Amino acid sequence: MDRVPAQILIKCTNFAALKHSKQRRKDREQTPYINHPIGVAYILTEEADITDLDVIQAALLHDTVEDTKTTFKELEETFGSAVTNIVREVTDDKSLPKAERKLQQIEHAPHSSPKAKLVKLADKLYNLRDLNRCTPNGWTENRVQEYFQWSANVIKGLRGTNKKLECELDVLLKQRGVLE
Ligand code: NDP
Ligand code: ZN
Repeated sequence: MDRVPAQILIKCTNFAALKHSKQRRKDREQTPYINHPIGVAYILTEEADITDLDVIQAALLHDTVEDTKTTFKELEETFGSAVTNIVREVTDDKSLPKAERKLQQIEHAPHSSPKAKLVKLADKLYNLRDLNRCTPNGWTENRVQEYFQWSANVIKGLRGTNKKLECELDVLLKQRGVLE
């Protein structure tokens, strides 16, 4: 029997909630981690008018491999290759040193698929808004500013994908003086 969108999306949400259940965000309130992938998916549907189910599923799952023990094989078997390939494109290679991973995001951004670019843009928008809302424990103002500068460099390679998301990001980048 064909599954309807509501079933498909609840399956993803439940999977991500179970996988991230022990994790918290870096903000002072230690918000449950699952708020982030749900919030990224919500930005795509509510602000960017995205209805593509593969993109919304990938948004819900986008940090499961990077931040939990989930494997791409598990995602393939559970959600199929279209969704898994988007998640693959937005997942950092954790075997690399952090500085290298951050450089790779800048270098890989322009070569990503349009669907992966959408997830990346919404992910960056969520994280930059989160940093504006509340500075994580242990972060200096300088570290926040460096994060905005690095994000601006990644976003440069994602442009031409979605006007609404890019406009929202531009407002935040301008406020920080990092929009070229
Ligand atoms: P991190 O990669 O350590 O942290 C940012 C990531 O944490 C985000 O991309 C996001 O990833 C996740 N995250 C979880 N909670 C939040 C939240 N509340 N707000 C925003 N993001 C959250 O940061 P960086 O290492 O990139 O640090 C920023 C800059 O500061 C860098 O340019 C670095 O040079 C500099 N710096 C770094 C230090 C370090 O120890 N790394 C020390 C001093 C300076 P996701 O979407 O995957 O959840
Ligand atoms: Zn994320």
